[in-house]
Amino acid sequence: MLSYQHRYHAGNHADVLKHMVLVALLEHLCTKDKPFSYVETHAGAGCYDLEAPEAQRLREHETGIVKLFDGTDLPELVAAYVGRVRAANGDAAGERTLLKRYPGSPALALALRRPQDPIDLFELHPGEFALLSDACGAAPRLRLHQADGLEGCIGLLPPPSRRGLILVDPSYETRTEFDAVLRMVQRAHRRFATGTIAIWYPVVVRQRVEAFCRSLVQTAIPDILRVELNPLPDGEGRGMTGSGMLVVNPAWTLERRMGEALPWLAQVLGDDGRGSCRVERLAAE
Ligand code: SAM
Repeated sequence: MLSYQHRYHAGNHADVLKHMVLVALLEHLCTKDKPFSYVETHAGAGCYDLEAPEAQRLREHETGIVKLFDGTDLPELVAAYVGRVRAANGDAAGERTLLKRYPGSPALALALRRPQDPIDLFELHPGEFALLSDACGAAPRLRLHQADGLEGCIGLLPPPSRRGLILVDPSYETRTEFDAVLRMVQRAHRRFATGTIAIWYPVVVRQRVEAFCRSLVQTAIPDILRVELNPLPDGEGRGMTGSGMLVVNPAWTLERRMGEALPWLAQVLGDDGRGSCRVERLAAE
């Protein structure tokens, strides 16, 4: 059952959080010359047309990137992320740049990695996989897999360079996905204990999120940072009020950069002053 299509949601507040963390982690990996591997378990279509009927139907980008795109006094990490989205829209000095396209995580990773850094992208849905292939084109050290990313990524670990980032971004359409992600993270960590694993989660039912976080802590995996951005107060399971990321082996700069960015974002993206955020250590180093 694969009904989720990210084109209806691209650029919303959850994408802002996820892609800001992604930019921060990739920028940090690029500070050393040694190659790193980037693996994404749920890649989606790669890049999104915000003028397409699907994006226009819910106009979710208005809860996220639209509020930031033309900002001038942005916190440092928000500016780094917005700069990447502007670049994907052909940002040119002296001309007004219009927001027409939203780069998904594959497009951001392809823009940020160096030629020596391999990328492996998994996408199961045939239609989304075809769009992903078109969006990525042929690039050196890029491999696309039309396969289950939670299973497929394990076979790639540890990467030869022993440096790497795994982005886990399911749509959580089924209740069992939280458990499947937990099992995958345990297997990945056993094979690649020093790798960074970034797991996105939606805040729909608060108790489910807290149970997921507790289960992750109970695995005894060390060094986990939790970041969350909630434009709305917790609801009663009728829709996504916020989202978060759990980052195993986070870059040492991530906690500080997110600590600067998130309170500002909670104000700017918060609905009627009701936004909130958190940056907390779930497990010590
Ligand atoms: N990571 C993308 C981004 O930020 O631009 C968005 C990905 S979207 C939230 C989730 C995608 O995972 C969907 O395109 C869906 O078809 C795909 N998917 C669902 N189950 C999968 C699985 N087991 N393995 C690989 N892809 C899967």
